[in-house]
Amino acid sequence: MARMDIMQEVIELCQTLIRIPSVNPEDRKGFQSPYGEFEIAEFIFNWFSSFGLNPQLQQVEENRNNVFVLAQGRDTSKTLLLSSHMDTVDVKDMTVEPFAANITDGRIYGRGACDDKGPLSAMMIAFRDRVAQGKLPFNLAFLATCGEEYNMTGARHFVENLSIPIAGALFGEPTSFKAVVSHKGVVRLQLQSQGQSAHCSRPKTGRNAIYPMARAVTAIEEFIESMDQWPQHPQLGRETVAVTIINGGQQINVIPDRCQARVDWRILPGTNALACRDKLEKFLRSKSSEEISVELLSHYEPMRTDHNSPLVIAILDTTDRVSNIRQTSIMTGATDASAFISLGIPTPILGPGNTEHAHTKNEYIDTADLEKGLVVYNAYLDGDWGL
Ligand SMILES: [Zn+2]
Repeated sequence: MARMDIMQEVIELCQTLIRIPSVNPEDRKGFQSPYGEFEIAEFIFNWFSSFGLNPQLQQVEENRNNVFVLAQGRDTSKTLLLSSHMDTVDVKDMTVEPFAANITDGRIYGRGACDDKGPLSAMMIAFRDRVAQGKLPFNLAFLATCGEEYNMTGARHFVENLSIPIAGALFGEPTSFKAVVSHKGVVRLQLQSQGQSAHCSRPKTGRNAIYPMARAVTAIEEFIESMDQWPQHPQLGRETVAVTIINGGQQINVIPDRCQARVDWRILPGTNALACRDKLEKFLRSKSSEEISVELLSHYEPMRTDHNSPLVIAILDTTDRVSNIRQTSIMTGATDASAFISLGIPTPILGPGNTEHAHTKNEYIDTADLEKGLVVYNAYLDGDWGL
């Protein structure tokens, strides 16, 4: 295909992917469009099949699949994995049509345009074309995950069921072509206070669960202020904590017997989830005699890749050559790379699009950026991959 045709192809593929809604269903059961990744996974599976590749649908949960493709190289002892995610955040409050993928002034607008359907489409084409060229030095694999935006369900499933030796993974996310080598992890906690319900005309016969929770939340604000004294990571800064959800009571004339709050804690390398849970519980105990239980809901590991690993160097050489950018960076949010930490392999993140445009009301990606994304991925795959 001529160069112009391939550039047109990446734009059209990105538009097609945006037009298949794939909002992360979070905890919904029996989700339906726009929630869920079933349809987009089918599309990607068929797309690879149509080029004679041999994709597999990997069932993660009912109606939720990853798409995985493996091409054998001369040396099969090592595999380079390229990975992007298929799900998006929700579309509530968007000011542009979320699934129209309209192009205005050289920008494709829509949910997922930059996070992550732009990088995903560029990676799909780069993978297909590199496999078609043949003479792969090592195995080359591609993984499109479900569930990245909540719990990293697809990536975790992939790592837990790994059947090939992965030597390095490159994650496609909007990084403005900087090689992201670290990001914070996340710990999600649930606080609960237990009371006793009663009729509101006789409140003293019950125990209101909301008051102790209100005191706990106020105490957490104090805890957060004390974090200004905590050690700082040279690139990632300090850990942060926020109370993000509070829920209590069922009816205006009933004393509530239960109140829950949720806490999001962004952690630095070296911190572990259970230690966070214990620390918050201990702090709350020290502030009050009331029982607030603290439960660990989920956590993602912080990601840290060696700046000097050959894979990172190969990526920096590529971005330097193609676009005069030679910069490692950090990301504030967590990604699928967290799920790969246990493998002890380099897991840099690189892609077209600006992370500041991700999850926004008018999410978009510049078509020029998207084209450059394809050029950068192609150029990297033409090299020795740095495995
Ligand atoms: Zn993303």
